[in-house]
Amino acid sequence: MRNPHAGEPFTAAEMNDADIARALEDVSVPTLMLSCVHMSGDPGILDGPLRPQGLFLNEVQGFMPEDDKAAARAFALDVIRDWRDRGCPEPEPPGPELVKRMMAWLVCGEVPDEYVAMMLEEMELDGGDARSTAPIADAAAAAAFPVVVIGCGMSGLLAAIRLQEAGFPYVVVEKNAGVGGTWWENSYPGARVDVGNHFYCYSFEPSDHWTEFFAQQPELQAYFQQVMEKHGVDEHVRWNTEVVGATWDEVSATWQVALDSGETLTARAVISAVGQLNRPYVPDFPGAFAGPSFHTARWDHDVDLTGKRVVMIGAGATGFQVAPAIADDVAQLTIIQRTAQWMFPNPNYHEPVGAGVRWALRHLPFYGRWYRFLLFWPACDTGLATARVDPAWEHQERSVSEINDLTRVMFTDWIMSQIEGHPELADKVVPDYPPTGKRTLQDNGTWLQTLTRPNVELVRGGVARLEPDGVVDDTGTKHVADVVVFATGFRANEMLFPLRITGRDGDLREHWGTRPRAYLGMTVPGFPNFFMCYGPGTNLASGGSLIFHSECEVRYIMQCLHALADGGLAAIEPRRDRYDDWYGRTQAEMRMMVWASPHIEHNFYKNADGEVNGLSPWRLVDFWAWTRTVDLDDFVRTER
Ligand code: NAP
Repeated sequence: MRNPHAGEPFTAAEMNDADIARALEDVSVPTLMLSCVHMSGDPGILDGPLRPQGLFLNEVQGFMPEDDKAAARAFALDVIRDWRDRGCPEPEPPGPELVKRMMAWLVCGEVPDEYVAMMLEEMELDGGDARSTAPIADAAAAAAFPVVVIGCGMSGLLAAIRLQEAGFPYVVVEKNAGVGGTWWENSYPGARVDVGNHFYCYSFEPSDHWTEFFAQQPELQAYFQQVMEKHGVDEHVRWNTEVVGATWDEVSATWQVALDSGETLTARAVISAVGQLNRPYVPDFPGAFAGPSFHTARWDHDVDLTGKRVVMIGAGATGFQVAPAIADDVAQLTIIQRTAQWMFPNPNYHEPVGAGVRWALRHLPFYGRWYRFLLFWPACDTGLATARVDPAWEHQERSVSEINDLTRVMFTDWIMSQIEGHPELADKVVPDYPPTGKRTLQDNGTWLQTLTRPNVELVRGGVARLEPDGVVDDTGTKHVADVVVFATGFRANEMLFPLRITGRDGDLREHWGTRPRAYLGMTVPGFPNFFMCYGPGTNLASGGSLIFHSECEVRYIMQCLHALADGGLAAIEPRRDRYDDWYGRTQAEMRMMVWASPHIEHNFYKNADGEVNGLSPWRLVDFWAWTRTVDLDDFVRTER
């Protein structure tokens, strides 16, 4: 069978030379050149003068001068024409040394061996699905091992696909009416992903369909719908049903999963895929507003904002997307923002994917795979260096290390360049805490331009109270409103809220208190056969993609389920010493990261004691290596 990444064949009648030349105007030229290596079989292309000059996240042209790009496109046209006229043969697989050279060429620097292995797996150049799950050897054992998945968002859907591959009977319980989780609930105007979509998608699914480089919510939700249908997961989902809790029964080694319908499901294992950001947080402000008001994750589409005076409280990753999307329609938008946000430029943030790019993704051998690598690599673990605290560095209140300070300069320059002619905004929009300490935003300038509009006011401060006709800020100024929008985030520190997971020794959230933790972010002693995707210590603040993390987690969880079903085990749970050691090491690492900085007053990453439990301080390559093969010695195993 032809490698699915080898390019869908086409003829001159379908794509003549002029059509190809037009398509190449849109594409990432460095990625195109690597596709040429596949098509021509000539690695000498890597030695030529036409090459990327530098690397930056989402700068997919490698800073190549226009002349070089034009010359490269002309060269590629010859290669593609020749390949087409030879009948678009499947290219010979490049050897490992050549692939390594191609990686280094694309990113203008060495890719260390430990990363090459991870990237090769992510890219799946061999056309396989490297993280798929083998069927359970003993079909009867699999059939006797029902699994319940809580949540049908990105990771719940992934878990379902893998459970199906393995042959486990499973039910996914989803509180919403449809698939997508965060991409179902967050339908606010302007909602879009901020990880490039050709990387922010499952590694084993095609990525040639995106219409924007950073897709908006409807397209993302439709993607998960289409993947769900393709894999036949939908018939296993209980929609509009909420898991209330689950209780471990030691005698039968099962979880009794209670639903809000009053039913109880019996499962040998439970996978929580509820994520960290699915319970809206609305602060308990004094007073009350009499008009329409809603949280961004519960956007009321029946409320027409046209010509209205809107006060939006909060402007983090959500609010900064909402404001530009509604500013045109409203009469007045007042944004009450307690803390300014660090951000950096992403020129492609609102750009459509041209027809040429979509053609290249579908037809040019391995173009999509190399493009995925090009999006992944610049944000792969490099952000950790910026986030690490150098205790010897002075001025910890403004930056935590020399490189963090350089980042501050770069981010500040870019922010200032966007507000030229509006000096009054400078004090409001340049943050006063170390960069990357809260969630860093990416923008193409839209947010800052929105703030310069005559009908938009940015109030930097807190909220004193709500009144029937408006919001009073903490200086006592009242902002009259027809509609109030709460862009105030999620109950991120109350992991798994409001689920009641009752293990051998009691309730999981009580066991955690203010310190949610899990071995490798997935398992907890006393809670046998209970697994978490996107659990404590797995959120990413320094780059990467949660889909990558989920693929690592689900592979690990599936290996655990294999061990249980194939090994005839009743239960596994992590050893307490490993769990404690993991948490201790993770916290020691975390205390050295900017996210725990005491100089950041408000940060949902921190609990009331200033500890960070949701995020991972680890390199992606470490998490990948640690979760690649489950070590059963980490677990207490109970025989059946
Ligand atoms: P958030 O980052 O927690 O922002 C909440 C906003 O509400 C902040 O401005 C916060 O101010 C403010 N706020 C909270 N409590 C307040 C109070 N009592 N008084 C006044 N202001 C208050 O929430 P979010 O913007 O919804 O983003 C949450 C996470 O969702 C992000 O970090 C990201 O992981 C994800 N997200 C991703 C995307 C994307 O990929 N494109 C988009 C949206 C969200 P302070 O900053 O002072 O606390």
